[in-house]
Amino acid sequence: MNLLKDPFISTTDGKVSLQEILTSEKDYQLQYFFDETQLAMLQMLASLTTVVLKPTIAQLKDYLANGVTTEQYQQALANIETKWFEDTSFMRAPFPAKSKIADGPITKLVSGIECGSSANALGLFSDSEDVSQSCSDCTHVLNYNLHMNIKGECFGPTGATGIRGGGSITTLIAGATLKETLLLNAIASDFYHKCTVLNDTAETRYMWDLPPTGAIYQAQNIGLERGLFALAYHVNFQMEDSAGYCHICGNKTEQVVRVFQRVKFTGAYGSTKNGRDNGAGWWLHPYTPRTEKEDGTYAVCARDQNWQSWQELTSYIVGKETDKATVKPAFVFNQFQNELAQGKANILIGGNIADQGSITGRVYDLYSMPASLSKNNRRISQVIDVGLEQKDKLSQSFNKMFGVGYDKNFVGGIKEQAMQRFTSNAQQIIQQILLDVDRKEAAQLRKDAATALNSEAKAVFKSVQRKYQHDLPLFKALVKGEYVLYKAN
Ligand SMILES: [Zn+2]
Repeated sequence: MNLLKDPFISTTDGKVSLQEILTSEKDYQLQYFFDETQLAMLQMLASLTTVVLKPTIAQLKDYLANGVTTEQYQQALANIETKWFEDTSFMRAPFPAKSKIADGPITKLVSGIECGSSANALGLFSDSEDVSQSCSDCTHVLNYNLHMNIKGECFGPTGATGIRGGGSITTLIAGATLKETLLLNAIASDFYHKCTVLNDTAETRYMWDLPPTGAIYQAQNIGLERGLFALAYHVNFQMEDSAGYCHICGNKTEQVVRVFQRVKFTGAYGSTKNGRDNGAGWWLHPYTPRTEKEDGTYAVCARDQNWQSWQELTSYIVGKETDKATVKPAFVFNQFQNELAQGKANILIGGNIADQGSITGRVYDLYSMPASLSKNNRRISQVIDVGLEQKDKLSQSFNKMFGVGYDKNFVGGIKEQAMQRFTSNAQQIIQQILLDVDRKEAAQLRKDAATALNSEAKAVFKSVQRKYQHDLPLFKALVKGEYVLYKAN
């Protein structure tokens, strides 16, 4: 099987090839059981599209407007060494001699499913037995997920941190069709080189052709194609002749994989502390928003279990600057805003919420974006600001409870629970309001957001009031605090 030629992509119409998706008029829907795998598949396919088409901005625009023809795809294939995309080769660097090989169930490659032994390793989403075997086709997306999305800490001492840092948030442009989504997230080489500082001698060979050497992997020496599929492990998947269903895509298979083997690379990328401290630098990973601080660049991660993506939406789209740090949108956003923006697109934010070696939650949110991002992004930031304002008001209105003289932890617990409820409910409200981002003016959107979020804040507040109506001191404090939510903006 070759990833650039053969049908290995699971869709609601069966397995199809990358060529079929890019060149046909049909809109295929990916079909994977877990949204995490679905997200990794979008990343991997957009990166494969990049390395096969090698588009410039002008070409990308043309493909978006007129589609990719079979001849164009075939021509592109003829210009590259497709052997690196054979399924025995792709992202699989052979084990070094005499290395100590660790193995584990493939379950660990769907990081929404915990099967570690740490105290807070929870079966959050599903039972680990539910994901114990995969077909050969799906091993590639599992392997990609391991290298790009899963935190090395999930594997203890045998874990490695990949080029973008483990557990970081992914933001993609979501087009109207799968084909459009892949093209919108393909990387134009001319624009990429404008945005990053690679050495003229940067290595472009894939890491399974030429593994990196040395203790520090310098970002400026890693070419675009090499970095898009940068490795952190030597891996192998053991095939067994045994018929069954694939737990990743649901297809029947004659051979299954249950175990994968790994040996970690020994050098450090700039995504790790060691790499940062030794000047490795941040490799501009195109799907990753990042925070720039005095001591270096960090991939944006979601750490708090109660984190909701809306709170950070503005910084993912337009960036954010504070005294200590600057948040910058992912490269694909810059590319879209500066070069490709046309028609309608959405933004997809996904990733895991990790706490050291454990996964405590998951994010997979789709937002509407204004047709013209550069002109209309104020509309988005205003809606988000209203959400943050209401959150702040709700917080203030609860603060009166601390004056009652009760145990601080007790009162703090009441407040925290209520705040979490607000943040979580606001997620849906904001996604809903942003559906109108193209149809309504900024002032109207702001007003709609204020009305909906204020009544949500009041509802959350009232439910706490009701719960403590028989606790006179608390109830009185809440009555005193209530006015904050009723004050005019
Ligand atoms: Zn499968």
